[in-house]
Amino acid sequence: MFSPPQNMNEEAEVIVVGGGPSGIAAAGALSALSIPYLLLERADCFAPLWQRHSYDRLHIHLPKHTCQLPHMPIPDDWPKYPPKSLFVQYLQRYVSHFRINPVYNRSVESASYDNASGRWRVAARDVSPGGTGAVEEYSARFLVVATGESCDPFVPKVEGLESFGGKVMHSTEYKNGEEFAKKRVLVVGSGNSGMEIALDLASHGAITSIVVRSPVNFVTREMLNWAVVLVKYLPFHWAEKITMIASRLWFGDMSKFGIPKPEEGPFTMKMKYGKYPLVDVGTCAKIRSGEIQVLPAVKSIRGNEVVFENGRSHSFDVIVLATGQTVAQGQGRGLHPGRRRDREAELSEQVERKERLVLRGTVEKRVLRSCARRPGRRERHKGASVTSPDVAKENCGGKPLL
Ligand SMILES: Cc1cc2nc3c(=O)[nH]c(=O)nc-3n(C[C@H](O)[C@H](O)[C@H](O)COP(=O)(O)OP(=O)(O)OC[C@H]3O[C@@H](n4cnc5c(N)ncnc54)[C@H](O)[C@@H]3O)c2cc1C
Repeated sequence: MFSPPQNMNEEAEVIVVGGGPSGIAAAGALSALSIPYLLLERADCFAPLWQRHSYDRLHIHLPKHTCQLPHMPIPDDWPKYPPKSLFVQYLQRYVSHFRINPVYNRSVESASYDNASGRWRVAARDVSPGGTGAVEEYSARFLVVATGESCDPFVPKVEGLESFGGKVMHSTEYKNGEEFAKKRVLVVGSGNSGMEIALDLASHGAITSIVVRSPVNFVTREMLNWAVVLVKYLPFHWAEKITMIASRLWFGDMSKFGIPKPEEGPFTMKMKYGKYPLVDVGTCAKIRSGEIQVLPAVKSIRGNEVVFENGRSHSFDVIVLATGQTVAQGQGRGLHPGRRRDREAELSEQVERKERLVLRGTVEKRVLRSCARRPGRRERHKGASVTSPDVAKENCGGKPLL
């Protein structure tokens, strides 16, 4: 097993950008193959999304075997859907086992491929608190971009938001509903985070409302698992249709409660708009029982009064913006170029040709999503197949391809 270079000036074979689960999976796989690498992470810990920016009651939505990293399964005796605390513990074990030693507080600002030397030049700013802020240069033959689908909290423009008299927080700051008991809380955003935060608030005795603007495809965890199996054996639209029927039978007509009925299925919506199906863990029951009130889009805010698109207004003490994340401004020149469509087409061809990149299993797909947008020449390194620089050369951190 290989330990990453301790001396930062020592040249690595591979630079991995991003120390989330995908980045540490890449590091683990490289380590297992004794390929020297350097992992650059802009936060001061690995998997900050899981360790810092998610709520307490979070559990992984997919069965554990689909979320485990290469070469180290999640223990058999752990629950099928481990809570965040166990998942973080698993990541911690992984990092220790493979002696993954990220260079923290390094925000990659650009990456370019130098044809003459056949190496990537990666510029990363030292963003350590009290640090120099200097830009350092790293170099390697291969580049893996594992910067995730989203990064910084997205705060929508809402007329009068700054005038709101109560507390406004983003879902990435929300931990649990303890402090909100008996408070009137409005959750803006009805993705998985928003729905689960609304459930958490209602369970803690908050007077909870949630804004749902667009159609939602609810699924249970089991439906999601079955759908993944079905698409392997049935044409896509059949698998989707069956999932929609199951959803309708299980959840009933949620439009009665103010949630627009979906015209399109969960996977079509994911592919077309990047919208994940909603894995319900109890929110629907609370909406049906009236413990969570569903409201239409917000029009404006005046003091504590929020005006909605149906012309009605309600007062709130707290607003939780579960409005998602956005790719950081100016992040990683060379890491997010355009022409994604071309890359997608080319990558599909590559997948059809069954060319494989360096990692295996689910994580391989994640890293493919993160780093590959065009087929690369396969190169041999110490017996392992490694992506050619071309693979990462015009990569981007966009939506999943596979
Ligand atoms: C609330 C919530 C719940 C979720 N639940 C699940 C779930 O149940 N199951 C599931 O499979 N997925 C879930 N996800 C999706 C989640 O995105 C993945 O589980 C996983 O975190 C993705 O890993 P990643 O490494 O690709 O991206 P991330 O975890 O986003 O990691 C990307 C890393 O790159 C770093 N980075 C970004 N830009 C730079 C830069 N320029 N320089 C250096 N470093 C950089 C970031 O700091 C971060 O550490 C959830 C997400 C959220 C927000």
